[in-house]
Amino acid sequence: MGNYLFAEPNGRIIPLEDKTFGINRLAKELEAKIGKKDVINATLGTLADDDGKLVVLSSVVEVLKNLAPADYADYAPIGGTPEFKKAMVSAAFGKYAPGCFTGVVATPGGTGAIRNTVSNYTKYGDKILTSDWHWLPYGTIAREIGRDLTTFELFDEDRKFNITSFSKKVEELLASQGSLVIILNTPAHNPTGYSLTAGDWDKVIECVKSACGSGKKVTLLVDAAYIDFAGDSEECRQFLPKLEKLPENILPIIAFSLSKTFTLYGMRSGAMICMTQNKDIADEFVRVCEYSSRGSWSNCPRAAMAVLSKIYEDKDLLHKVDEERREYRNMLLRRGKAFEEAAKEAKLEIVPFDSGFFASVPCVNPDEVGKELQKDGIFLLPLAKGLRVSVAAISEEKCRKIPAKIKAGYTG
Ligand code: PLP
Repeated sequence: MGNYLFAEPNGRIIPLEDKTFGINRLAKELEAKIGKKDVINATLGTLADDDGKLVVLSSVVEVLKNLAPADYADYAPIGGTPEFKKAMVSAAFGKYAPGCFTGVVATPGGTGAIRNTVSNYTKYGDKILTSDWHWLPYGTIAREIGRDLTTFELFDEDRKFNITSFSKKVEELLASQGSLVIILNTPAHNPTGYSLTAGDWDKVIECVKSACGSGKKVTLLVDAAYIDFAGDSEECRQFLPKLEKLPENILPIIAFSLSKTFTLYGMRSGAMICMTQNKDIADEFVRVCEYSSRGSWSNCPRAAMAVLSKIYEDKDLLHKVDEERREYRNMLLRRGKAFEEAAKEAKLEIVPFDSGFFASVPCVNPDEVGKELQKDGIFLLPLAKGLRVSVAAISEEKCRKIPAKIKAGYTG
């Protein structure tokens, strides 16, 4: 029976409180007691200014405030309004025009895109593959709908993408499953800040092509939640053309989120976009994913769709939003670099970091180390292989402080 009174566990182990939000709650309680200055709350993945206040793009808010009632009160089509779908293709691909069919389905954030991919491209009991360092809800999503998550090692001994571990796992899984969903969160991976290089991508594609022999199918889900905080917006989209001409038994899906890119976390909006040379596969993608949406959250919020459509229909407005975001992206990059430099000075090993909301420190017993650091007013998220630091949530000054504190006796 475990810790269930009335509910059915269905193979799930459900904690009493979400880990990330639980640690954030403790940090908030301490802030209320001793003040924000002496607390470093680097738990949540929401962008905050140097005073810890949520960053919201004012150019986006302006559009939101001017919506007509029909823009937010009416139902949206299950798969999204046509204007929104068009906007999503532009938002996800930037200047690159995909040379393939692109089915688009609106989702409540990137989370919805991940959930719909898992439910439609795996069977009950299948294992989904992602890296050992990963966003915890991948496992929750998989287990919630009767699947499981397994991992490859993200980095090798030379701190490079571990193609050997990746290939081994892909081959193993395809030997026992007819199909496989692989989740790659790049660029600006959560929790490490790593972005796959062009060379990494070539190796991944080569491996998947050779492992995906007769009768096997691979869905390559690119979780691009942080793509607009990963550096130059065109440069970090350079991997996309590599995905447009894959064999028909490999289906790339881009999970795009409005949460970070447009600071619309609470509006629950995003999209899943497939890339294929086969129109029937693209049409089927839309049909099956819309069906799953209907059977879970139904329609997505229309307001976010209207906001995005208006932004992408007006060049000047889009430019304004991009420029405003650029300032914050630079702020975030400065914080990440400050953390990286301070780690170097403190001789603290961190996992390879490029950009984005998070950096990570490997350690042997992350939960215990995390608890010790809390005594010092530092709140980080313990993961299986180390501690995640949300550089998005704290000032550059606080980013510089953390490495020495971790080094001072806590790394194992
Ligand atoms: N993927 C990763 C790696 C994330 O960190 C997040 C949010 O924190 C998401 C996807 C999806 O977020 P949302 O559902 O708000 O778009």
